[in-house]
Amino acid sequence: MKKIIAVDGPAGAGKSTVSKIVAARLGYTYIDTGAMYRAVALKVLQSGQPLSRQLVNNIDIKLDEAARVFLDGREVTKEIRTPEVSRGASDVATVGYVRERLTELQRKMAAKGKVIMDGRDIGTQVLPNADLKIFLTATVEERARRRLAELEAKGLASDFAQVVKEISLRDKQDSEREIAPLAQAEDAVLLDSTALTIEQVAEKILRLAEAE
Ligand code: C5P
Repeated sequence: MKKIIAVDGPAGAGKSTVSKIVAARLGYTYIDTGAMYRAVALKVLQSGQPLSRQLVNNIDIKLDEAARVFLDGREVTKEIRTPEVSRGASDVATVGYVRERLTELQRKMAAKGKVIMDGRDIGTQVLPNADLKIFLTATVEERARRRLAELEAKGLASDFAQVVKEISLRDKQDSEREIAPLAQAEDAVLLDSTALTIEQVAEKILRLAEAE
């Protein structure tokens, strides 16, 4: 059984939904690194302070077993999912000291093994020795459809063209940044989820995790 699983890919590819299913089936811990960048962005937005090394070094981010997110002791699971925080996360994620700090925390969280961690740079930077690396993708239209459904389910109004635009912008910024850009690791398995259900993607990952 693969003890450390890394899942990378662009926004809306289904990484977190699939990773949660795989974690539950294997009895692993799911670690959502995007939530950590989102928490930093939320802190900047809410505190009125500019982003600084001090702000990042003093930030307290916790993820619990139910994938709830806590920022400085307060639950922010829902608050970090707005389009404004998505944009802010992609911005703070370009800053070297933010990435260094969060990468350090993420490695500590994965140290015990039996983890599935998702993000943009997990297979390439955070856990280059992961036992299984997945690069999960889908067309931008399909990813936008999924994101729109998620936003609507939460009662957040949006429209398809706007979501396509936001996702495309975030993909561009995440792929073109200088430090730890979104990229498929050489040894990652590429999975295109465009025409697959969540369950089918989860099954494929589980089979890969169980293969010797
Ligand atoms: O995965 P999610 O969409 O929640 O991530 C929000 C943003 O955080 C991404 O658009 C990306 O800029 C950043 N991120 C990152 N590295 C990670 C995870 C997320 O740069 N490992």
